[in-house]
Amino acid sequence: MIKIFKYLLLLIILLTVLSLILLRQPTFQDRLLEVGMANIANPESFLPKEDALTAVVCGSRSPINDPNRAEACILVQAGTKIFIFDTGNGSIQNLNNWNTPWNRVEAVFYTHLHSDHIADIADLHIATWIAGQRNSKQKVFGPEGVQLLTDGIELAYTKDYSFRNEHHGDILAPLDVVGFETHTIDLENPVLVDDGDLKITAYSVSHDPVDPALGFRIDYKGRSISISGDTIYDKNLITYSQDVDVLFHESMSVELLDRINNIAKKTNNFVVDTVTVDILDYHTPILDVVKAANEANVKHLVFYHHLPAPRNQLMEDIMYRGVDEIRDEWTASHDGTMLVLPLNSEEIEISSVN
Ligand SMILES: [Zn+2]
Ligand SMILES: [Zn+2]
Repeated sequence: MIKIFKYLLLLIILLTVLSLILLRQPTFQDRLLEVGMANIANPESFLPKEDALTAVVCGSRSPINDPNRAEACILVQAGTKIFIFDTGNGSIQNLNNWNTPWNRVEAVFYTHLHSDHIADIADLHIATWIAGQRNSKQKVFGPEGVQLLTDGIELAYTKDYSFRNEHHGDILAPLDVVGFETHTIDLENPVLVDDGDLKITAYSVSHDPVDPALGFRIDYKGRSISISGDTIYDKNLITYSQDVDVLFHESMSVELLDRINNIAKKTNNFVVDTVTVDILDYHTPILDVVKAANEANVKHLVFYHHLPAPRNQLMEDIMYRGVDEIRDEWTASHDGTMLVLPLNSEEIEISSVN
């Protein structure tokens, strides 16, 4: 037995020495680099290829900072079509890191015009324009005021667009599709997409003084998702989210915000003291989120837009205390949390892109 261990140890040492020698050989280095470059030049998409309804959290935090999370963003894939709901700060970096097939992005939807939901719109535009080679302007749907946002971005990026066109030419960077095709959502006509298989419906939520503030429901071949945006506990959200497979809902821990507030008071941090009180009246406390999800008969509840975002498992455990007692199926999402809803099935497959 001891002899076998000796031979094994010798073999491991020999292999380690051999790989160290190989790693210094230019031919071997070139071969390894080629494999790495192939992944950069022609990356594999992280999204499933099967016909299903899929959602990926591309940003799970609120404006309260967290070094490992982006602000609000949810990507939805229905069959081969991709839709993005909100583009908070850091979300497009996430989607680039995960090799998003930008050529399949059909439209972007904004729940409301707070900065933590819109900040990356310019990067989204560049990604679909150049990497995605879209053949029309970027479709954007949002509440009243969204035209101001897209006009402003077009104005601010006028020089960037013309410099890129000058350098890369009309085929790679065509100016006729630069900019946005903007749709201001009118809740009198809330169905924004309806092609028989796929339906996307806007509904109003309560995030006063942000008005209008919207949620969205996505139905695809018998599977369904609802996205809350920012809201207090809201009966309209419950109506529109009735019986959905998955509800993505914003999430506020009053207990953790209170603790942050106490420390801010003691240390005379006026900004944190004020903000942690101000935000209490336009977000939903966690147990009220669960109440809404249960009343809507939602199958799986996903918390996102955490206020504050838990920095580790301990903080997450404290933040979501009491949820298990009133709901079985739920997830506190991170950047990269992915839910796949296969067709003709009740299954919800949960995994992580990261
Ligand atoms: Zn927000
Ligand atoms: Zn907001």
